[in-house]
Amino acid sequence: MPQSESAEGTLFVVAAPSGAGKSTLVNALLEREPAISLSISHTTRPPRPGEQYGRHYYFVERATFEQEIADGIFLEHAEVHGNLYGTSRTTVNTLLTQGRDVLLEIDWQGARQIRKSKPDCVSVFILPPSRTELERRLRGRGSDSAEVIARRLHNSREEIAHAHEFDYIIINDDFEVALGDLQAIVRAVRQRSPLQWLRHEALIQDLLA
Ligand code: 5GP
Repeated sequence: MPQSESAEGTLFVVAAPSGAGKSTLVNALLEREPAISLSISHTTRPPRPGEQYGRHYYFVERATFEQEIADGIFLEHAEVHGNLYGTSRTTVNTLLTQGRDVLLEIDWQGARQIRKSKPDCVSVFILPPSRTELERRLRGRGSDSAEVIARRLHNSREEIAHAHEFDYIIINDDFEVALGDLQAIVRAVRQRSPLQWLRHEALIQDLLA
């Protein structure tokens, strides 16, 4: 008999330097794989034009965030580019227990914390094809000030230095290729034998009869 595994969902962690195209890739993945739930983070960063509370982030004041840290509501949290970001423990655990796959779009510090508390998570790092392209994409966003862009570019080196800690690395050069790679990872994880054995127990019993 194979080792038994709970029917919990899989926790996917996706990180990248700002400007690598992570959110666009993740949103396209979620369209193709609607069974994955995206975790909405809490942040002290002010909303960009068009961003909505509860859809992109839960935007909160720093004092509120600090109280939430003290209350232990976060599965992980970190300071990134001068703002605080965190993932709700209850939301993620509830979805996983219900058997839903959950995706976290977080930085390397958060990914490191998640690997400790959820060693079964599957982590993916997205790289831009070049430094020039990273800069071009960051400036092209048009919603950040020159100061914010400079800070994010500067911080990208630190983020990239941690790429080797992740299970997979994807180069986002051609968008469709990168999306296919990301989807391939999700699909491969779903075909892992312990999970398949649980899901298809009736079929296997029938085939063995
Ligand atoms: P942005 O401000 O561009 O939306 O995100 C900035 C950085 O914060 C990105 O690297 C993003 O992945 C990261 N981030 C967003 N939410 C979280 C979170 O809940 N936890 C952690 N650790 N990082 C986050």
